[in-house]
Amino acid sequence: MQTQITCPNCGTPYMADVYQIIDVGRQPQLKEMLLSGQLNFAVCPNCGAGGRIATPLLYHDPAHDIFMVHVPPEMNLDQVRREEIVGQLVQQVVNQTPPEKRRGYMFNPQTMLTMQSFMEKVWGTEGVTPEMLARQQRQVDLLRRMATASPDVQEILLKENVRDIDETFFSILRAQIEATSQMSDANQVVGLLNLQAKLMTETEIGRKLEKQQMALHALNRDAKKAGGLSPELLAQHIIANEEDESLVTTLALTGRAAMTYDFFTKLTDEAEKRQKAGDTAGAEHLGHVRDQLLEIQREMQEATQQVLKAAQDVLDDILKADNLDEAVNANMGRIDDLFMHVLEARQAHAEQSGRHEESEKLRHIQEIIISQMQSDTPPEVQLLTQLVSAANKQEREQIIQSAPGLVSDELVEVIDMLREQASSAGQTELGDRLSEVRAELKAKLALAGSH
Ligand SMILES: [Zn+2]
Repeated sequence: MQTQITCPNCGTPYMADVYQIIDVGRQPQLKEMLLSGQLNFAVCPNCGAGGRIATPLLYHDPAHDIFMVHVPPEMNLDQVRREEIVGQLVQQVVNQTPPEKRRGYMFNPQTMLTMQSFMEKVWGTEGVTPEMLARQQRQVDLLRRMATASPDVQEILLKENVRDIDETFFSILRAQIEATSQMSDANQVVGLLNLQAKLMTETEIGRKLEKQQMALHALNRDAKKAGGLSPELLAQHIIANEEDESLVTTLALTGRAAMTYDFFTKLTDEAEKRQKAGDTAGAEHLGHVRDQLLEIQREMQEATQQVLKAAQDVLDDILKADNLDEAVNANMGRIDDLFMHVLEARQAHAEQSGRHEESEKLRHIQEIIISQMQSDTPPEVQLLTQLVSAANKQEREQIIQSAPGLVSDELVEVIDMLREQASSAGQTELGDRLSEVRAELKAKLALAGSH
């Protein structure tokens, strides 16, 4: 819900989204937001000061039987008021859960006294232990100290904490650079970039990561030049880096679509060539690399099978239900792109095999899901999705005309945000489309303003 907040720094009042119920079965994206620290985090539009909004939280994760509440002590609520709020939140969750999915624990939520214990429990469902969290907190603190320290002090901090500087540390640093550049604080960004460059050369893990980045960059560059990554090209790059096991794995994971029969044949050919040339050790080594990659491929295939199986199970559950709408609703949290893919494939197969009744039922399930997704999506985002996927300017024109109330400066701001996201994710095509849409909307707004 939208709530008015007053900035503690500059006093500006502004509206922010506040979530009090995180029902993972229904809205798994809220869990992601919570874990990444974005949930109930407000940033003042005037001065940029940001912080967590203190609000009561109810967390429900049906897959892990977790039903817990946290009421921040800083809200200074008395016992009676606290119980009242918790009661209301519980009631809401119970009401939105279909009767057959309600469970006994829903009437007795676990109370978490601190946000820390609350978060530890959520991280626990991701296999992250309190020890791992403590280490990460240490790393965040270390980064904060290093970012503002003089070169001498940085050197000392580096020597003292070299064991805490691992891949996670580098990913925290990268995230920090990204966040800071969005707030357009140039000085701070430069400081962080310098720190990153220093750590890249002065630590073993940094040198390893840099080598990895360069190898991936070379692979992408060659693939782009050749118009795509072929099995031959992937084999060449793997052979060129065969001495570095983790690099081989990284390249294979990046280019896994090119790990075909041809790819493995290329490795075998090269090993045989070495054997003939009398390089027995080289042939053996490459044979070993090939076996390892086969093993990685097998593991990836197994993992794919498992998620496919899970999606099929969900579909079977829904098909068995008496009420399709309710069944889809109860499973919304488990419906993703892969599920839709499975659904389409099964529907096409039923159609081809002449099982019309089943095919119709599957088509109906598809319709329910799509209308459910659309009703969950804010109208602005629906409009933008339509605009971005429109075939041409004319079609966009029609879409804009059909929703005159939504064309506003706020919509342009949403586009700007999405453009930034697209550009930092390297999605240039989406970025270009958004720029096109933005220009057209701006023209529309200018026209409306001149009347
Ligand atoms: Zn402010």
